[in-house]
Amino acid sequence: MLPDIRSQTRDALAEQFKAWSEPAYRLDQVLGWIYAKRASGWDEMSNLPRGLREKLAAAFTLTLPSLVTVQGARDTTRKFLWRLGDGSLIESVLIPANPALYGERSDRHTLCISTQVGCAYGCRFCASGLDGWKRNLEPHEIAGQILAVERWNTGLPADQRVEADRVVNNIVVMGMGEPMANYENLTAALRSLNAPWGAGIGARKITISTSGVVPRIRNLADEPEQFRLAISLHGATDDVRVQIMPINRKYPLRELTAACEYYVEKKGKMITLEYILIAGVNAGREQVIPLASLARRLHAKVNLIPYNTVEGLAWKRPEEDACRAFAAAVEAQGVTTTLRLEKGHDIDAACGQLRLKTERALAETGGSPAAGGQ
Ligand code: SF4
Repeated sequence: MLPDIRSQTRDALAEQFKAWSEPAYRLDQVLGWIYAKRASGWDEMSNLPRGLREKLAAAFTLTLPSLVTVQGARDTTRKFLWRLGDGSLIESVLIPANPALYGERSDRHTLCISTQVGCAYGCRFCASGLDGWKRNLEPHEIAGQILAVERWNTGLPADQRVEADRVVNNIVVMGMGEPMANYENLTAALRSLNAPWGAGIGARKITISTSGVVPRIRNLADEPEQFRLAISLHGATDDVRVQIMPINRKYPLRELTAACEYYVEKKGKMITLEYILIAGVNAGREQVIPLASLARRLHAKVNLIPYNTVEGLAWKRPEEDACRAFAAAVEAQGVTTTLRLEKGHDIDAACGQLRLKTERALAETGGSPAAGGQ
């Protein structure tokens, strides 16, 4: 099995081109085809000599995830289910910044990407871990989600297409998998997406969300890039958090807080605390003060997300009034707080749901899902 070219570092490719006696500008051309023109085959690289295309084809693959289904509509949250080379299914979610206002089209989008097939972390609100962990994504499979969405956009009819150089302006690493458990591949992919020779997406526009893998938070703080950090907190005291996040047994709040303080000190960047509101579990007033003190200590903002019902899980979303009251109470403690009345609630947008449903349907029928429109 050949390696994919998008999983190679630029330095490794430069060495390879030197060994082939190819001039350096040829590598820039190839990278331009990959990241700016989102090529998915060597023959598309029309300004390269045939001989170089043959050498590339003999040394590397150049594959994008193939689209299985896309849910959602223009200017709403869109959810993509992709099939990888080995048949594994992963998800990405495209979220417009200004959805459907007066029929105008949004030209700013955030893509939420996956980093693993399945997940071993078992957060209790999440469908991704229900069938366990299968494998880590390679760098090209992580970066490929952005490129595949942009390529998909160019294939849409003109009245549905986003007419911008890049469709994906922001990346949140918050899809299937614990990003920090696939740290090397993730950072390799993000470097290609961030680099001027790659997709050129600013590091400040890339947010990595973790359930709280403490040593990796410290590693991220030591990286030269200014990637942003979000913590899936979901409980502001150990006794509540441990009911939702099994990782809290290994890395309790005291250790998590210390690692976050280290990140904030090294980067000088505000972090985000994600907090899913679950009725009867963590949405009571007794969590407000500990949550607000943690946020103030970390100079963090709080993002509250009412729980998305997941098939097979018993928890419930609090009433909207209760969510608003919780948000107001945290805000009243002097903490910047947003209440995200979920986009995509109706399209299996909760982490891992679309993939899980599709895999289970496949297992039942032995068939394959309808092909998507790429
Ligand atoms: S929330 Fe993230 S880390 Fe937790 S089980 Fe789901 S995918 Fe894994």
